[in-house]
Amino acid sequence: MIVYLDGKYVDAADAKVSVFDHGLLYGDGIFEGIRLYEGNVFRLVEHLERLEYSAKAILLDLPLTRAQLIEATCETCRRNNLRDGYIRLVVTRGVGDLGLAPWLCAKPSLFIIASTIQLYPKEYYDNGLAIVTVPTRRINAAALPPTIKSLNYLNNILGKIEARQAGALEAIMLNDQGYVAECTADNVFIVHKGTIYTPSAAQGALKGITRDTIFDIARTLGLPIAEQNLTRYDVWCADECFLTGSGAEVIPVVKLDGRVIGQGKPGPVTHRLLAEFRQRVTREGVRL
Ligand code: PMP
Repeated sequence: MIVYLDGKYVDAADAKVSVFDHGLLYGDGIFEGIRLYEGNVFRLVEHLERLEYSAKAILLDLPLTRAQLIEATCETCRRNNLRDGYIRLVVTRGVGDLGLAPWLCAKPSLFIIASTIQLYPKEYYDNGLAIVTVPTRRINAAALPPTIKSLNYLNNILGKIEARQAGALEAIMLNDQGYVAECTADNVFIVHKGTIYTPSAAQGALKGITRDTIFDIARTLGLPIAEQNLTRYDVWCADECFLTGSGAEVIPVVKLDGRVIGQGKPGPVTHRLLAEFRQRVTREGVRL
């Protein structure tokens, strides 16, 4: 496997960062997880825009321009002869000393890994996921805006561990006020009486690229959609529930905390959105 690392395409075995890199020492950095479908980097420009906003929010100067990032991302895929897969683009604060000071880090480090992806097994798309609400809450937006896709994922990792302890593959995380924020690595939606609802970024949701795509699809299909504060009760009593993410795409949820959602099987709105999503994945993006 060939990895892009700071301007060079190197063998995976040589793709190494320093133990003094602040991405490792402090989680001081940002990233994107991007899908490649039949030679199309899905919504690459939107991912890079989010990366640029994350960089601005943490006062990090990206070492490459938008055009250079597009070229490096596509070239990494090409060098690995990849047509379908998952791309991880990471920018760290770079090498510094053992103190926090980011201004002592000489230059950011940027690497791009283009690899394959481990998907949820097909049966979950056919039958839906049973998920739980975990005790760990999302970090307050005033402490660390959830819109920054940073390397600080420990909060989500604790949620993921708790999900596994409860025998679930994903979990809903609430914000500090008790409203539904999102899942450990996916956004969450419900359908109630014909309208699609999802929590806003202010409630602790990442502005997911797949989430945005669902808004576009809903508008195209003429389905009402809105951001709304949601409680666990709203999800229990929804007609349908589904999660979105670059890895998960659009995956139905049929149970939360032991309560059956709707008819206990993937609903018609979820089916329509997933079908339309799969139509778009090879159309919207940057071709290699
Ligand atoms: N929320 C979190 C916490 C995530 O890490 C992700 C990405 N895996 C998402 C939501 C979904 O975002 P996207 O659709 O951009 O992949």
